[in-house]
Amino acid sequence: MVGAKLKHMPWCSKKPSWDHDHCEFCSVKITSLNIPDALQEGYATPDLYHWVCPQCFEDFREEFQWL
Ligand SMILES: [Zn+2]
Repeated sequence: MVGAKLKHMPWCSKKPSWDHDHCEFCSVKITSLNIPDALQEGYATPDLYHWVCPQCFEDFREEFQWL
């Protein structure tokens, strides 16, 4: 994840059958579904395989050199 190009976006699926991802760091759920305690947006890698929540993005952006 070091130097990854993360983009802030609403959660979207890489596969139609998937309805959520988890933050790589704190495992909070990121989804388009309206679920309590879940987020609807986050920071994703270009391939949408890795998601980071906004809080972890702020906490780790310098350490991981995210742009
Ligand atoms: Zn997180």
